Amino acid sequence: MLEFDFLTPNRLDESTAILEETGGCILAGGTDLIPKMRNDLFFAPILVDLSNIDELSFIEEKDDQIVIGALTTHQAIAESALLKSTNPALVTAAGTVGCVQTRNRGTLGGNIANASPAADSVPPLLVYDAQIRLLNKAGERTMPLTEFLVGPGMTKLESGELIHSVSFSQLQGAWGGAFQKLGVRNGMAIAVVSVAAAIVLDASGKVSDTRLALGSVASTVVRSPKAESALIGHEPTPEVVSRAAEACAEDISPISDVRSTAEYRRHAAIVLARRVLEQAAAEARGRLV
Ligand SMILES: Cc1cc2nc3c(=O)[nH]c(=O)nc-3n(C[C@H](O)[C@H](O)[C@H](O)COP(=O)(O)OP(=O)(O)OC[C@H]3O[C@@H](n4cnc5c(N)ncnc54)[C@H](O)[C@@H]3O)c2cc1C
Repeated sequence: MLEFDFLTPNRLDESTAILEETGGCILAGGTDLIPKMRNDLFFAPILVDLSNIDELSFIEEKDDQIVIGALTTHQAIAESALLKSTNPALVTAAGTVGCVQTRNRGTLGGNIANASPAADSVPPLLVYDAQIRLLNKAGERTMPLTEFLVGPGMTKLESGELIHSVSFSQLQGAWGGAFQKLGVRNGMAIAVVSVAAAIVLDASGKVSDTRLALGSVASTVVRSPKAESALIGHEPTPEVVSRAAEACAEDISPISDVRSTAEYRRHAAIVLARRVLEQAAAEARGRLV
């Protein structure tokens, strides 16, 4: 049987003090950590359970920013009216995480800190240029989420630190956003490929801003500058969108593993990129005045 100390702080300042003092491992929903510990893939002698820290569970609009607390569950994100109207891709992604039990336990902070290239919440956050706020006993720091994610299972989180929240600016004007994921089956499946897109159109219907992010096709979730630049300044016709989707293949480096081959992932990334770009463009056109 596994033996470890289990600490349950009740306040945020108590949590950072305990993390600093003990160097313990954070436990949130436990949906990644506990299976790893049960399967002897990871062991932590001290677990610091954050689940009593209500201050970390929120979704709010603050100074033109949408801010989501690290302890917010995927289910809360999937049901959020504020997020449906500001980042529908994130809402769709949250609704595809595991099963209802996983969504009710699993948190945004855990999904990010686990740093899987297949983490479903990450592509929709990258297309909004999300920032991550980290706290420790001494203070806080903020950095772009892209910078925080270093590689599979690797982040810039330092000992004694916790993820407080993630924030992003709302898109303005005629915008659209979408997320699609391909798994080996329809439910309870980690992504073989996932893609999120956002498109903003100017008054003439041309793309003034666009972002495309892809999961499970590199060592972290990646943006595709090639696809983005293929769209900027153009009307998102089917031909332009197809060219942009093809271009994303230059920004990814998929591998073969138990879930798929590299070749299939590359093909699926292009197909999904085209679909999400078409979906985002259609939504943006609907907002043109
Ligand atoms: C059956 C099943 C299906 C799943 N399906 C999917 C899926 O479809 N898509 C998907 O993306 N994921 C999936 N997952 C993985 C998992 O559910 C998610 O990654 C979830 O969001 C993890 O959150 P958690 O709160 O459970 O994290 P935990 O397991 O508690 O923690 C995970 C890691 O994050 C760290 N951590 C947690 N919170 C913080 C914080 N605030 N600050 C710093 N570090 C922190 C922990 O120390 C640990 O290293 C699945 C898991 C299971 C068991």
